[in-house]
Amino acid sequence: MQKIKNTTDINNKIEFNIIGQVNSPYKEKFAIPRQPGLVSSAKGSITLIGDANNAELVRELAQFSHIWLLFVFHGTQAQGWKPLVRPPRLGGNKKIGVLATRSTFRPNPIGMSVVKLDAIDIKEQQVILHISAIDLLDKTPIIDIKPYVPYSDSIPHANAGFAQTQPLANLQVTFNEQAQIAIIKHSKNFPDLALFIEQVLAQDPRPAYKQGKIDDKIYGMNLYDLNIQWQMQGLTCIEVIDIMPSTSSTE
Ligand code: SAM
Repeated sequence: MQKIKNTTDINNKIEFNIIGQVNSPYKEKFAIPRQPGLVSSAKGSITLIGDANNAELVRELAQFSHIWLLFVFHGTQAQGWKPLVRPPRLGGNKKIGVLATRSTFRPNPIGMSVVKLDAIDIKEQQVILHISAIDLLDKTPIIDIKPYVPYSDSIPHANAGFAQTQPLANLQVTFNEQAQIAIIKHSKNFPDLALFIEQVLAQDPRPAYKQGKIDDKIYGMNLYDLNIQWQMQGLTCIEVIDIMPSTSSTE
């Protein structure tokens, strides 16, 4: 199996095996929601690999509706980390300790997400887990999968400081005529495309400093193999102005 190598210079290193790889509609970091569960229509899968690609590993897993994924922030791993980070939830201005955040730039680039387990497929000796409500970049390496156990994993009255409440996702999203035609054209391959785009954009994927300001920039985001172009209309609306095949991804 492939090994994950720690990128820091300390001597106490641990190596983990990659047990699976994510197939995600999010082809670049931009516009991925900040946590799982925020965009319910974001569907992906995990292909188990190496010794972990064995039906025995997932026996009885299907009785759990949700699973924890432990993964590597492979897209930002090479950029290293700093003790202080500026969380977007605080407007990107205030620096706080990295361990008080869910930043991708951490001493060990390990992420954890609870996602919905929709189905487990085992075909021709390949195990594939179908998942949704994900916040994962395409090709994310998975290092562990565990069942989500509400009685222990959910603490409804826990204090969560600056992240106590779910971020607002209240931008109105409209599609111009050209975008509506494209949605129909792509509906065979991507039947939930309009809902997916709406849910992603309602979160306002722009950098924190742009929020609440007049902004006439045309943004592009890559979902599946499509490049979606959109623009703010005033402070609270987004118009999708075109949907084209992606020419490249930033990853
Ligand atoms: N739920 C995870 C956690 O708490 O550890 C991730 C939270 S992190 C704030 C979410 C962001 O990670 C997403 O918005 C996306 O930009 C980024 N991301 C997701 N998968 C990644 C990957 N494989 N490499 C680098 N960044 C990734």
